[in-house]
Amino acid sequence: MDVLLNRIFFPTSFNELFSVWNQNPSAQPYAGGTVLLWKQSKTIIDLPPVIICLDNMQELQNITRTEHYLEIGSMVKLNKIIKLGKIVPEVLCDCIENIGGVQLRNVATIGGNICCTARLLDIPAPLVALDAQYEFRGAQSSRWVSAVRFHSEEDIDTLEKKEILTRIRLPLNRWDYSMYKKFFSEDIYDHKTVTFLAKAQKNILSDIKIVCKGDTIVRNKNAEGILIGCHLPLYRKTAADFVENWKEFLANNEEIDEFSKYEIINCIEINVYNLTE
Ligand SMILES: Cc1cc2nc3c(=O)[nH]c(=O)nc-3n(C[C@H](O)[C@H](O)[C@H](O)COP(=O)(O)OP(=O)(O)OC[C@H]3O[C@@H](n4cnc5c(N)ncnc54)[C@H](O)[C@@H]3O)c2cc1C
Repeated sequence: MDVLLNRIFFPTSFNELFSVWNQNPSAQPYAGGTVLLWKQSKTIIDLPPVIICLDNMQELQNITRTEHYLEIGSMVKLNKIIKLGKIVPEVLCDCIENIGGVQLRNVATIGGNICCTARLLDIPAPLVALDAQYEFRGAQSSRWVSAVRFHSEEDIDTLEKKEILTRIRLPLNRWDYSMYKKFFSEDIYDHKTVTFLAKAQKNILSDIKIVCKGDTIVRNKNAEGILIGCHLPLYRKTAADFVENWKEFLANNEEIDEFSKYEIINCIEINVYNLTE
């Protein structure tokens, strides 16, 4: 009896990639493979029958910087991003440093973290806070999608359109206050995180973004509205109203357990009180 063998393709150009994908519609893109190989301890690993390995796609490895943006190719390894140094927004760097160990980060890519459809991983939340954009390429087209839209439910099927994430564009904004906190869980897919960013102009809070990661991305724009336009340092009463708003907001969220809600509120409270007198 014939044994059905796995087939692995190594395209070097988009033409090759999409031609292979056309001929093998069930093929799965493979970046670092750490999600696909997770928890496989058998001698012979279980892989999707057809794989399109992105390793030889040079264009996906590029890192470029302009006056306003940093662009990172989807196949750039996590450790390489950390090594870029100060140009990388602090919250993104902190997030990546808290993903697995050095060995994992030498293999895992930023694109694989964003495109893991099984579960929401850690990198998308800081990217949403940083107003990142993703470029997707299909056989005939390319388009930019904002991180916030991509990770919202309405765009969850994006990857079923046979598109490849090619690069991530990060605006190089200056944030006066930035903080990333991760609450570890035994299940690597269940970590909760908080990204807190604030910006001031002439002592007036001009922008604030607080993005939490539970099973989905959680952002409370109503609460942010309470603080935007306020003088710094904030009045303690304003900070208290802000925290109260968050408590009410999270009380209605059934996807986050009570203990995680407590951790998230605590973290937000500490950080907003850091902006008071
Ligand atoms: C021990 C261990 C610990 C981990 N800890 C964490 C953690 O703390 N936090 C966390 O967030 N994650 C964690 N992970 C999960 C994951 O390994 C990494 O987050 C990693 O970044 C995934 O990248 P990859 O390149 O290995 O993805 P892959 O496994 O290659 O791909 C993941 C998915 O994305 C798709 N894909 C990949 N690249 C593209 C692309 N360019 N375009 C379209 N689709 C694409 C693939 O088809 C696949 O479905 C952990 C994994 C392990 C094994």
